[in-house]
Amino acid sequence: MSIQVPSQSFKYTPPSWAQPVLSKVPSNGRLHLANLPTPLYKLDLTSHTSSWSALLRELNINLFVKRDDMTGGVETGGNKIRKLEFLLADALAQKCDAVVTIGGEQSNHCRATAAAARMVGLQARLILRTKRANSVMPPESSEFGTTGNILFDRMVGSRIYTCTPGEYGRLGSNALVQRLCTYLKGNLEEKPYPIPVGGSNGLGSWGYINAVEELMNQWPNSGDEKLSLDHVVFACGSGGTAAGICLGLALAHGAADEALREKRSGETPSVHAVGVCDSPDYFYDFVADIADEMGFSHSSSSSKDFVRQHMVAHQGKGLGYAASTPEELEFVTSFALDTGIVLDPVYSGKALFHFLTEVLLKDKEAYRGKNLLFWHTGGALGLYDKEADLLSTLAKTAPVARLDVYEKGQDGMVTI
Ligand SMILES: *Cc1c(COP(=O)(O)O)cnc(C)c1O
Repeated sequence: MSIQVPSQSFKYTPPSWAQPVLSKVPSNGRLHLANLPTPLYKLDLTSHTSSWSALLRELNINLFVKRDDMTGGVETGGNKIRKLEFLLADALAQKCDAVVTIGGEQSNHCRATAAAARMVGLQARLILRTKRANSVMPPESSEFGTTGNILFDRMVGSRIYTCTPGEYGRLGSNALVQRLCTYLKGNLEEKPYPIPVGGSNGLGSWGYINAVEELMNQWPNSGDEKLSLDHVVFACGSGGTAAGICLGLALAHGAADEALREKRSGETPSVHAVGVCDSPDYFYDFVADIADEMGFSHSSSSSKDFVRQHMVAHQGKGLGYAASTPEELEFVTSFALDTGIVLDPVYSGKALFHFLTEVLLKDKEAYRGKNLLFWHTGGALGLYDKEADLLSTLAKTAPVARLDVYEKGQDGMVTI
């Protein structure tokens, strides 16, 4: 199909390996919103100058990148659009006219949801958690600014409601979404569709079951070019991506199917979810809850056991959610300098930095000669929020000079 109509849903058929274990298949179909399949790159490390790249060369590790930062344009790019293909199909089937969702001030999820909602004719209502909630009060809403994701939220006409981190923590994101929905129904006669933080529920997580199927079709699984997929690394924020990747990779490698397990010669990749906000225990439980929502049933293990068997959650939040250390930002800069691929400071950059400098470095020999896939989940707009912190590194790595075209001979100018 070459011409796509975003609001036209089509029937979703899950991969055969998912069906017996995950019985709650999305019944309202899927939309074509993401640019799929996203590219799978193998990086050529030879010209790289950074220390992390030297480490990978020394250990003879192959680094692959799954470019889910390329699922869309600036508006819809990143991992959330895969979940929204299912969530918005459901919203349309329920004849809703708006979506309500919630996230941090620089939420990639809210930005992608808002843009995708408009693509299918729905209005976007966002609750953004911000320390500035009390200082930026109506009617001067323009003072809320246009940095990074916020510009795109506002370009597509989202109505933004703010709350403080304290309010968010005390009431919880689900209660806030529900309350806004009630308000919109009662006071503005809207029919809103609630989407949880990150789009991470049983329905949205099918987006990453689908993504695993896509990866399996790209990865050389058989014949002379067969490669083992040894480690898969990605950032974990609200947990839906981790749920889809953990369940998907395990099931695609035969965790519930003896014949499939033999076909894949028993090699199941190690799944590394690097948490950027909550604790590993929180994520194990959350991912198991999502599995239950997806109708998980397995002959020999509970969802909780299954998740712990097939995923390692790492604590990678560092200074805290969306707070970056100079080392993390330097890593993001050096990665871009070496590869031409820009990671984000809050998720992908933090996760890969933590994985390379903590997890891998502490157990180097275990990774020698392995194939490591990093799943890039997008988020580059978040870098605008870190401009001030990036300047000192950029001054070194990307200097700017004034051309002395009239040969004035002034200090610091370059004569060509
Ligand atoms: C939301 C997000 C993640 C985390 O995905 P979850 O499904 O919320 O765990 C990772 N990277 C980026 C860039 C994101 O925006």
